[in-house]
Amino acid sequence: MRYVYLAKSDLDALIQHLKKSHRVIAPVKKENLFILAEVQGAGEIALKYIPTILPPKKYFFPPVEKLGSFKMGDEKMNSVNMETQPTVLFGLHTCDIDGIECLETVFHYHPADPYYKKRRKSLVLIGYECMFPCDEYATCVTMDTHNPKAGYDIMITDAGDKYIIHMNSEIGEKLIGTCLAVSRTGNDADIKFELRRLREEKIKKFKTILDTEYTEIHDLFKQSYKAPAWKDVGKRCVSCGNCTTVCPTCYCFDIQDEVELNMETGERKRIWDSCQLEEFATVAGGENFREERSERQRHRYYRKFCYSIDKYNKFFCTGCGRCTRACVADIKLYETLNQLKKETNNV
Ligand code: SF4
Ligand code: SF4
Repeated sequence: MRYVYLAKSDLDALIQHLKKSHRVIAPVKKENLFILAEVQGAGEIALKYIPTILPPKKYFFPPVEKLGSFKMGDEKMNSVNMETQPTVLFGLHTCDIDGIECLETVFHYHPADPYYKKRRKSLVLIGYECMFPCDEYATCVTMDTHNPKAGYDIMITDAGDKYIIHMNSEIGEKLIGTCLAVSRTGNDADIKFELRRLREEKIKKFKTILDTEYTEIHDLFKQSYKAPAWKDVGKRCVSCGNCTTVCPTCYCFDIQDEVELNMETGERKRIWDSCQLEEFATVAGGENFREERSERQRHRYYRKFCYSIDKYNKFFCTGCGRCTRACVADIKLYETLNQLKKETNNV
């Protein structure tokens, strides 16, 4: 059986079960926002939450990561002996699971990234399906990330008086299989039917705020390279880089060698970078091939909606809305896309 029930009052029993073998990271409330943090019990978890400030990517690809150390004069660097800890990421929204799918694609693309691969093996993904839209900035319905599809080990869906648990991998089955709190009173076909009914009700609560259909977005971008919208967002953007830091699918990084004060040894680090920062596209000789903010903004959107389709056949925007919530200049992703649509219609 791949579908089972869990009584709502047994959620803590499930967390305690997971904690026997794993560290459990889950969304928790911090003032008016939410973060992912280690929890000791279900009481600390915020199951109703708007996307956490930073997405789960920090557990796959940390903001600062030591890659190795070196000694001046040596020909080779010593690679780092990376320690990982078995960890459950609990309560992930389906859009964030889609974001992890984007990272999977990129970091496994030839040549696969060994640091990412090692971390990934230590992580178990348990999703929590959103039954209501997070807020007015989420575009998950248009981006088709509002329902669980793939990429998770276990998915939990609120079915009113109980939870439905879907085990989607061998790891998921093993973890749930030994949990005494779950109930096996239904059969897979009936539970799947119940899930279909729940999702038919759920979709009525979600509004689409993008004027472009999923299947038209790539074409819209093929026609929008010279659109006036880029000048408009370029005038407002202050190049702070918040939008890329909080994005679950942005993965650009810089490599920096830090030499110790003894001038003999040092460390090589991988650090998150942002295409929105002016120096990002500066090359030898001081040339900058994306000097204007409008060019950098356009690049960000094209990385989400056009280039990723051309290269990986996948949108790299999950519709989580984080870039809109975090933008200090009030640049809203859905407004930019709607403006592009208007401008293309007027050509
Ligand atoms: S571009 Fe914005 S809405 Fe899309 S995935 Fe990134 S942060 Fe979320
Ligand atoms: S968060 Fe807003 S102001 Fe900052 S770089 Fe991104 S678009 Fe520009």
